[in-house]
Amino acid sequence: MSAFAYRNRILHAEDVDLAQLADSVATPFYCYSAATLVERFGAFRAALPDGALIAYAVKANGNLAVLRTLAAEGAGADVVSGGELKKALAAGIAASRIVFSGVGKSAAEMALALEAGIHQFNVESEAELAVLDAVARAKGVVAPVALRINPDIDAGTHAKITTGTAASKFGIALPQAREAYARAASLAGIAIVGIDVHIGSQIATLAPFQAAFRRVVALAEDLRAQGHGIARLDLGGGLGIAYAGDAAVPNVDEYAAMVRRVLEGHDFAPVFEPGRAIAAPAGLLVSRVLYVKHAPERTFLILDAGMNDLLRPALYEAHHAIVRVRATDAPARRYDVVGPICESADVFARDRELPQTEAGDLVAFLDAGAYGATMASAYNARPPAAEVLVKGERWSVVRPRLTDDDLLASDRIPDWLR
Ligand SMILES: *Cc1c(COP(=O)(O)O)cnc(C)c1O
Repeated sequence: MSAFAYRNRILHAEDVDLAQLADSVATPFYCYSAATLVERFGAFRAALPDGALIAYAVKANGNLAVLRTLAAEGAGADVVSGGELKKALAAGIAASRIVFSGVGKSAAEMALALEAGIHQFNVESEAELAVLDAVARAKGVVAPVALRINPDIDAGTHAKITTGTAASKFGIALPQAREAYARAASLAGIAIVGIDVHIGSQIATLAPFQAAFRRVVALAEDLRAQGHGIARLDLGGGLGIAYAGDAAVPNVDEYAAMVRRVLEGHDFAPVFEPGRAIAAPAGLLVSRVLYVKHAPERTFLILDAGMNDLLRPALYEAHHAIVRVRATDAPARRYDVVGPICESADVFARDRELPQTEAGDLVAFLDAGAYGATMASAYNARPPAAEVLVKGERWSVVRPRLTDDDLLASDRIPDWLR
């Protein structure tokens, strides 16, 4: 059962009345359900092979309270910057359960991760390998490394979140993999521990995963035969969710069954990096309608949340279900649901059917727990939405909305302009 359900015709997050919460915490705000985070992480833990490292992708939702909730369930972390590494550590995730991904790690970020003693670096180029080797040797340590392989598989997702085709910047092309491993083996500051693949995000069918995993398993066995120490197989993240209620998206159990088929007869320590499938269903964005604007051809609902709070529709044409916080029997109408930002892209939904809605009404965007708050910006000098974590009947603001004065105070006027 969803943690977001109507009681007395008011949408609740667990036991918290969202209309009341909106009065306490000014809109817009993100609201996360701790129970859903635990349930979604638990689904991966139950379905994936025993002992697998489930390194939650911090970039999906890196709020410290979210990370701490997941850490308590045994989550590791997949980080893509020094900042995310610090957050994961601060949330209590052991360094030995942290993997570091990303195409552009700086030497300073590598040093930080080596000092912390992370589980593994997922290295994406020979150039990066050379820098990591130098940083590790300078510290007198050896960096545990998996090379991220680009298997040239189209994940069948939106072009802006596909990462495993030959045209993408991510990973080392399959035909160059053997050479890259030979190079890694020659470097004193590098210890090869495994192989890594991540072909994209919001992937809605199992076929591309399976094709990519089979290629990587075959390569891994090949590399082993050449004497490389491929103990770990990091299969990345990317499992999609049913944003539009489409039942076709595979669930965690189906994904895990496919993984078991691919791994059968092979002996690897598996690592997974799910982000969206854990965090997205655990969050809502709650916003208030500022104005209803009747134009000749359309009716606009103008919200107090904008693309600076929730970028996904503008960036990826993403669909989020939008519901009224107070259920109503009002007749259905068609609306363009938009934000206040001065950009034509600041549109959440076109021609969306909703019960008749008035200024002052509250709406909630469903499945907004991943790639929502983490992608927010202060564009148009609008401080991004606050974040609230709910657990049962308790709630807490886990990131306040900055004030205009906070934003103002972060700029500096140089002496020569005073
Ligand atoms: C973004 C990312 C993930 C998480 O992807 P989801 O689609 O959120 O599961 C995992 N691994 C890497 C390397 C990523 O860049």
